[in-house]
Amino acid sequence: MTPPDVHVLPAKLHALTSAIFERAGWSARDSGLAADHLVLANLSGHDSHGVGMVPRYILSARNGLLKTGDTLTTVVDAGALLTLDGGLGLGQVVGHDAMAIAIDRARQHGVTVLSLRNTHHLGRIGHWGEQAAAAGLVSMHYVNVIGRPALVAPWGGSRARFSTNPVCVAYPRPGQEPIVLDFATSRIAHGKTRVAWKRGVPVADDNLLDSEGHPTNDPSVMWTEPLGALLPFGDHKGYGLAMMCELLAGGLSGAGTIPGRTDWNVIDNNMLCVLIDPAKLGGAETQAAEAERVIEWVRSTPPAEGFDRVRIPGEPEREMRAQRSATGTPIDPTTWGEIVATAVSLGIVREDVAALSGVAVPG
Ligand code: NAD
Repeated sequence: MTPPDVHVLPAKLHALTSAIFERAGWSARDSGLAADHLVLANLSGHDSHGVGMVPRYILSARNGLLKTGDTLTTVVDAGALLTLDGGLGLGQVVGHDAMAIAIDRARQHGVTVLSLRNTHHLGRIGHWGEQAAAAGLVSMHYVNVIGRPALVAPWGGSRARFSTNPVCVAYPRPGQEPIVLDFATSRIAHGKTRVAWKRGVPVADDNLLDSEGHPTNDPSVMWTEPLGALLPFGDHKGYGLAMMCELLAGGLSGAGTIPGRTDWNVIDNNMLCVLIDPAKLGGAETQAAEAERVIEWVRSTPPAEGFDRVRIPGEPEREMRAQRSATGTPIDPTTWGEIVATAVSLGIVREDVAALSGVAVPG
């Protein structure tokens, strides 16, 4: 029988995650920002971008493919236009600091176009949209991934040619939670196939092709050779958006696009962000009022069969945060075992893992 998931409360998960990073020699700030991001991804229901990434990050750092410390440098500074280079630094820190600079510029100029290049895994892109929304700014984010094999087949193709190139649009609502649209351009995020593979469960129809280009439900095709491919969401439309992410993030930043850039096995993200200050655009009042009108309008429809109600983008994540804050984040036994093994490899004894996480850790 498969062992059950462990459930870890957010504060405990944060304590364990930051302790692992600090034991790896990362600063308290870097460790804390990375733990904030990963734990919030789990709380939001996106386990693919949560603490399951900890062993991978530690491995990348050991292999010199993830840098910590002060890695962010300026390539172009033209006021509202910025190109910043992450120096393959920890995405949770580089992303946070780059967004802080972009937010400051948008307050000055009304708009920022930020091209952020060469950053280790930026994680859940909605995190960056939420950072801008918390500052009262609208933001759009287009992301590509270089440095590792392609994962997603173009519409009409049978082999992978893009990564899961995510898109995010966040729209603030004064005094209320923002609207946050944030998704991979594949039908499902690659990390969700890892979660399914580790749990030993199939994925739904129409998400995957095997290495020969045939439809399959087996998530292992994304993790064991010969590799298969994810399908793009929305057929030709999702494929088209993935291509635009590739060009807007990789082409505009100068970091490059995926062809021929698959030899490092590192998650190297590039992100184009456009931040807009609604007040400077002259539409702050309309911006707020129209958001409420549209939300009320979509919510006024009776639910379709199989649905309880209409939700707005960002709402499912907030519902999950409320639920998991109380019940803890479920972590499958394989992923939990990998996290514990990573902690132990860094010299955190099992008793301390148990004390930090609140979960018994047998020897
Ligand atoms: P998903 O398919 O779960 O879609 C999430 C989006 O859809 C959210 O905006 C959510 O609020 C909205 N949504 C979901 N159900 C809804 C409903 N019933 N009504 C209204 N809106 C609803 O997300 P995904 O494609 O699995 O992506 C997961 C995460 O992976 C994202 O945070 C993404 O940024 C991240 N990601 C990161 C990278 C990277 O390279 N850093 C790559 C791919 C994905």
